[in-house]
Amino acid sequence: MIEIADPDAMRTWSRAERKSGRTIALVPTMGSLHEGHLRLIDRVRERVDRVVVSIFVNPLQFGSTEDLGAYPRDLDRDRAAALGRGTDGLFVPTAEVMYPAPAVVRVVPGSLADSLCGAQRPGHFEGVLTVVMKLFNIVEPNLASFGRKDAQQAVVIRRMVTDLNLPIEIDVAPTVRERDGLAMSSRNAYLSEAERRVAPALARGLDAAHEAFLGGERAVDRLVAAARAPIDSEPALELEYLEVVDPVSLAPVETAEAASIMAVAARIGAARLIDNIILGEGTGADPRVGQ
Ligand code: AMP
Repeated sequence: MIEIADPDAMRTWSRAERKSGRTIALVPTMGSLHEGHLRLIDRVRERVDRVVVSIFVNPLQFGSTEDLGAYPRDLDRDRAAALGRGTDGLFVPTAEVMYPAPAVVRVVPGSLADSLCGAQRPGHFEGVLTVVMKLFNIVEPNLASFGRKDAQQAVVIRRMVTDLNLPIEIDVAPTVRERDGLAMSSRNAYLSEAERRVAPALARGLDAAHEAFLGGERAVDRLVAAARAPIDSEPALELEYLEVVDPVSLAPVETAEAASIMAVAARIGAARLIDNIILGEGTGADPRVGQ
């Protein structure tokens, strides 16, 4: 596995691979790799000749009051984990090389950022799209894989690729969960033991809504009520949003349909956790690992 920090060197490596007829996949991450990230590597490993994993905690997507400074970082562990899953190239740029000058020109998500996390985190998806565009331009992959755990992110990235005619296939992978249903996340490291016990209530809420949906319920207020029952029973969980949105426009809907996305965000202690299901699929369809 080659490790590269310089964007020009990364592009030179990538172009040489492409010139030799090899295909490349990119898995962008912020590091602190867990099984959710590693499954993205597994998925693309089967489809391309070279897998590049980027590790970059992108300052542009963090609000001024958010956890940029505290975000967990462990490059030694990540290096071993990425290598263990067959990564060929690890791209680990610094903020200084990614943003040598202020990022004046950016990619904007438009109305796709009006709901869910976009409404709660002004500028977040602009920061995400801008860095993903930069990573795409640096690595020039044929394929890039993202997790459905960040459902809004996957939608805005797919839309960027469509609207800006980027020659890259986007793969979106199911959410990898702990055995008790909690979606795996680097931010789960912020949870105390007591908070960790409470956190799966989010997934239980989504499962309850999914059950109601499968039972024929389509009214969003009743689906939300079903999801809220387990969540509200945990006072430590401070709900930020719980919405059902259209899978393309991400606009809230009043009547759910198959493929509508139910998404939730909640604060618990120092952590802000997000999760979602695609109605008709449910969290039960997601892979589970761990204890
Ligand atoms: P992050 O490092 O949190 O920015 O995540 C990097 C990529 O991994 C993103 O595409 C995420 O959606 C994806 N990801 C994070 N957690 C999970 C998970 N539990 N299951 C599947 N994909 C995930």
